[in-house]
Amino acid sequence: MIQLYIPLGFLGVLYREIKQSLTDLDKMFVLLEKEREVADEPGARPLTLDGPPTLRFENVHFSYEPAREILHGVSFEIPAGKTVAVVGPSGSGKSTLARLLYRFYDVSNRDEGGRITVDGQDIAEVTQGSVREAIGIVPQDTVLFNDTIEYNILYGRPEAGHDAAVAAAEAAHIRSFIERLPQAWRTMVGERGLKLSGGEKQRVAIARTLLKNPPILIFDEATSALDSANERAIQAELRLVSKHKTALVIAHRLSTVVDAHEILVLDSGRIVERGRHADLVAQGGAYARMWALQQAGND
Ligand code: ADP
Ligand code: MG
Repeated sequence: MIQLYIPLGFLGVLYREIKQSLTDLDKMFVLLEKEREVADEPGARPLTLDGPPTLRFENVHFSYEPAREILHGVSFEIPAGKTVAVVGPSGSGKSTLARLLYRFYDVSNRDEGGRITVDGQDIAEVTQGSVREAIGIVPQDTVLFNDTIEYNILYGRPEAGHDAAVAAAEAAHIRSFIERLPQAWRTMVGERGLKLSGGEKQRVAIARTLLKNPPILIFDEATSALDSANERAIQAELRLVSKHKTALVIAHRLSTVVDAHEILVLDSGRIVERGRHADLVAQGGAYARMWALQQAGND
């Protein structure tokens, strides 16, 4: 029996290895594709910032493929140091807004005046690197680097050092998890290392963002994979760090955005309602219905 199991187990490992390297190749092509889509203009200069900036989406149209437009003229402003929240059904284009701001892609109608600005500077006209340096993003699905967990947290500000990584991990509620691992901070993670759960990966991304301490924050359903106790604790932490930053918060749980400066309800690539929480609830539209549903579910 034992002799039978060993070779079969070995085959299983081999198969996983092969499948994994194919996945890595896929990822690499996706990355290359993205790099090709946004090229810096010749002579592009870095973004200049003086504290948390004002962000503007001006008549933004966007299509991943020419035949299918995803965003149909989206305009809004996030005043310096404020938080604007985006809610809406899945597939409505929320993550696309985040990807455009992080400049994974450029706005499709730049010729007709569609643009995204940071303190008046079109992000398509400054260097992509300087835009990303100014932004901390906690994406919906975090992909970790094949390196140690410490490297993954320090990524973006490696010079911050171990103590800063520990403090950030503490705030993101991932410190005790890390320190209980046999190799603790030197544990290899990513595709070829220890597989972390969705919630653990989100907490690593949150720690990385807290440590980077950038003037602009993007949270894309940043706590959606956490259980509700962890979510509540980390939400409090995120609210604290967002205080004097310009933040775009995509929320799946409306209770996390009731204090937002403005809430945008996105539906099929259009803003269909906008305003403050109390006004939207009083208005009795789509937001009010979503709110009633979540209240009923005790979310
Ligand atoms: P949300 O975050 O609101 O769920 P997304 O912004 O992720 O929505 O997606 C909006 C629409 O764009 C969806 O219809 C989705 O299928 C499509 N989409 C997302 N990413 C891509 C892509 N890389 N290529 C083509 N279509 C995409
Ligand atoms: Mg999304």
